[in-house]
Amino acid sequence: MATQHTEQTATALTMLSEDERLFRDSVYEFADREVRPLVREMDEHAKIPRALLDKLFDLGVMAVEIPESYGGGGARFFHSVLAVEALSRVDPSIGVLVDVQNTLVINALMRWGSDDVKRRYLPRLAANTIGGYALSEAGSGSDAFALTTRATERGDEWMLTGRKLWITNGNEADLFIVFANVNPEAGYRGITAFLVERGFPGFTVGKKEDKLGIRASSTCELLLEECRVPRANVLGDVGKGYKVAIETLNEGRIGIGSQMVGLTQGALDHTIKYTKERKQFGKTIAENQAVQHQLARAATELEAARLMVYNAARLRDAGQPFLTEAAMCKIFSSEVAERVTSLAVNLYGGYGFVKDYPVEKLWRDSKIGQIYEGTSNLQLQTIAKQILG
Ligand SMILES: Cc1cc2nc3c(=O)[nH]c(=O)nc-3n(C[C@H](O)[C@H](O)[C@H](O)COP(=O)(O)OP(=O)(O)OC[C@H]3O[C@@H](n4cnc5c(N)ncnc54)[C@H](O)[C@@H]3O)c2cc1C
Repeated sequence: MATQHTEQTATALTMLSEDERLFRDSVYEFADREVRPLVREMDEHAKIPRALLDKLFDLGVMAVEIPESYGGGGARFFHSVLAVEALSRVDPSIGVLVDVQNTLVINALMRWGSDDVKRRYLPRLAANTIGGYALSEAGSGSDAFALTTRATERGDEWMLTGRKLWITNGNEADLFIVFANVNPEAGYRGITAFLVERGFPGFTVGKKEDKLGIRASSTCELLLEECRVPRANVLGDVGKGYKVAIETLNEGRIGIGSQMVGLTQGALDHTIKYTKERKQFGKTIAENQAVQHQLARAATELEAARLMVYNAARLRDAGQPFLTEAAMCKIFSSEVAERVTSLAVNLYGGYGFVKDYPVEKLWRDSKIGQIYEGTSNLQLQTIAKQILG
């Protein structure tokens, strides 16, 4: 009897479905048209114009995975990764704004939010509300669970008191996931995630940092002084905030990988064009084999970084384990970004060192990839733990 085989062949990681390709191309065309003319000004003034934020909502990149019934795109995590890459190719500051919104805030709400939380907040996040993710404090960065923001029960509400530092989107966001401890004696088992609106009594946004790179992306202090949060705004279970934090950051890391891949692609695009135009010794600098090899190496490293990011994202969407792959793609792509943007500055020569040309900014922007959402040493720790058992 003949057996019927339904052969399933895995496709190449970079082969996009028609829908993924159209989505990525439309985001890149938008970035090229609407973001590129503003990049220098946004970097100088450390500010994103509200009109651009509104256009990002119209484009659909602020609610990629939110179900259509709540006004979102109903797409997958991989689409968020494609959007962050396409935007970061033009401006990594816009890339991280969209990354935090999708891979941290919306992701956490979709995974841990009750039906009531989803009904109240997902339509707002899809329409016009920007989100922030507030874990770090002055004394707790890598050691995130040493946070000291305290939550105490008072009647129907929680009172939050403490200070958060380095919060991306702090300037623009109206909704924050804030991590606080309800029982410090229980250590990390007291950590709880709360949904805090900008307008809640006792909540203020403090100092905005003046940064080396991704300057247009706001990074702010948040002050909570007996900030009153309704009981219904606990995200997930009381005492399980550490799980919310660990699991969303594992996914968020893939988003940072895609930010770094987009940034690297942007730097390489500029550099290829420039080296084919600039002439020295009577020929373009790209005609020198030494330069060709440098560019070839950069393109190879970029390809490897992209494959790692896409693989981690596709594993995540397939419901497969992806912890090690996420850590690996973040550390590798952030190192590639630093190397390739540094090469870009070198190949631009003196012009690489001045702000009239785009590559010095990308070099500055690349540095953050090795710091936020877990520094490189912390990624190595995660990878080592997995491989050594
Ligand atoms: C621009 C920007 C945006 C940010 N956005 C957000 C945000 O939206 N939300 C948020 O919650 N946080 C955010 N952060 C905070 C960021 O996640 C932390 O800065 C980061 O986790 C590092 O913490 P730290 O700065 O306290 O450095 P530290 O933890 O003090 O680390 C300093 C150095 O020591 C090393 N180190 C620390 N511990 C170890 C160890 N055990 N083994 C080996 N090496 C170690 C680190 O690798 C690093 O090189 C942001 C930061 C920046 C700069």
